Amino acid sequence: MDIELITIGNELLLGQVLDTHQQWLGQRLAERGRILSRQLTVPDEGESICGAVQVAMSRSQLVITTGGLGPTSDDLTRGLLADFFGRPLSRDAAVEAHIEDYFRKRNRSMPDSVLVQAQVPKDAVVFPNLHGTAPGLGIKLSPNPFGTNVDPAWLIMLPGPPRELRPMFAEQVLPFLEKNFPLEQEFHHRILRSLGIGESMVEEKLKDVIRPFLDRGLELGYCARIGQVDIRLSGSGPDMPIVIAEAETVVRKAIGKHIYGIDGQTIAQAVVERLIAIGETVAVAESCTGGLLGHQITNVPGASAVFAGGVLSYSNAMKEKLLGVNASILSKDGAVSKSVAIEMAEGVLEASCADHALSITGIAGPTGGSPEKPVGTVWLGLASKGCRSIAIRKFHPFGRESFKNATVNYALNMLLRRLNKTAK
Ligand code: AMP
Ligand code: MG
Repeated sequence: MDIELITIGNELLLGQVLDTHQQWLGQRLAERGRILSRQLTVPDEGESICGAVQVAMSRSQLVITTGGLGPTSDDLTRGLLADFFGRPLSRDAAVEAHIEDYFRKRNRSMPDSVLVQAQVPKDAVVFPNLHGTAPGLGIKLSPNPFGTNVDPAWLIMLPGPPRELRPMFAEQVLPFLEKNFPLEQEFHHRILRSLGIGESMVEEKLKDVIRPFLDRGLELGYCARIGQVDIRLSGSGPDMPIVIAEAETVVRKAIGKHIYGIDGQTIAQAVVERLIAIGETVAVAESCTGGLLGHQITNVPGASAVFAGGVLSYSNAMKEKLLGVNASILSKDGAVSKSVAIEMAEGVLEASCADHALSITGIAGPTGGSPEKPVGTVWLGLASKGCRSIAIRKFHPFGRESFKNATVNYALNMLLRRLNKTAK
C-alpha cells in the first residue's frame, strides 16, 4: 500500500516551524507495518496544494494532508479540496455544537469565522477534534478520476497543530486505517535502545549472530543519534513474534550491557522506572549541563517519588559553597576533573540524603578548552550510599546543545548500570 504525506504551510517552507508531522506520522505508521512512500511540503497556495494532492492520488491508496484546516484566510485545505473533488460543503451540526461548546467551556467569545470549521464536504468521514476545533476529514474517491488502478483512494485531511493531530491520528485515524486497509499479515516490531556504543560497533557485533534471523524474514534496522543507537527488529507473519524474541535474546547476549530500554523508552524513563521499582532516590549536581539532567528526570511522570532535587553549581564559588567542594582541589585539579566530579556527587548526596547522586562538570565550548582538556571534555561522577564513588571522563565535542544531551544521557546510563548491577 502506498501512503503519501503532504504537509501544508508557508511556515514550514520558511523554516519557522519544523515539520514534525513527517517524523511523528512516519513513526506511528511504521510501528504498524505501514511505511510512508513519499512526503512533500507545499505552501498555503491553491495550485500547489491541488497539484500535489492530484499527483499523490494518482498513485497512492492513501494521501494524508496536514494543516490549513483552521479559520484564518491562509487556511485553504478544506474548501479548496472539497471544490477540487466536487464535494459541496455543508454545515455539520455535531461539529458546530462541538466548536460552540469548545469556546463556552473556555469562557471565550466565539468569532463567527470559526464556524467555517463545521463545514464538511459531502460524504466525508469526520474525525472529531477532541483537542481543538477543526475536525479531520476523510474523502473516498471511487472511482478515482486521477488514477484508474488506484481505486478506492482516500484523502485524509488532518489539522496542523501537533497537540490536535497526534491524538486524532492515534485514536481515530489508525483504527480507521486498520479497518479499511487491513494488512495481509500481522506486523511485529521491537526496538532495542542502546547507549555508549557506536553504530559501527553495534553492527560489527551483531552481523554474524543476526544473519540466521534475516534468513527467517527478520528485518533489521539501525538508527543512530548522538551517543545512542536504536536497533529495530521487525517483520510480518505468524512466526515473527518468535523470531523477534529469539533475535532479541541474541542481541542482548552480544551487546546487552549497552541496552537500556525498548521501543519509545528514554534513558530517563528507564532510570526513573528502575528507581521506583527498587524504592531508591537520586539527586544531581550539574555544572555545564545547566539543569538538563534534572529536566530530563523530571520530564518522566512519577519522578517526584525518586528525584530528591539538584544543585546547579555553574561557578566554582557555588561548587564550594553548596556542595562543599574543596577550594584547594578546585585550584589544583581545576573544575573539570575527576576529583571535583566526585566531590560534587558526594556533596549533593550528603545534602539531599538521596541514595544516589550524579554530577557533571565539563567544557561545553566553544571556548575554554586547553590541550589537556579540550572543548567537549566532561567528567561524570556517581556517588551512592554504601558504595565507592566513581567518575569517568568522556569527550563530547559536539556543540553546546548536543554536548549537553549526550552528556546527560551518559550520566543517566551510568546510574542505570549501577542500579542494574546492584539489583537483587
Ligand atoms: P494550520 O492548521 O495550518 O493553521 O497549522 C496550525 C499550526 O500547526 C501552525 O502554525 C504550526 O505551528 C503547526 N503545524 C502545522 N503543520 C505542522 C507540521 N508539519 N509540523 C509541526 N507543526 C505544524
Ligand atoms: Mg497553516
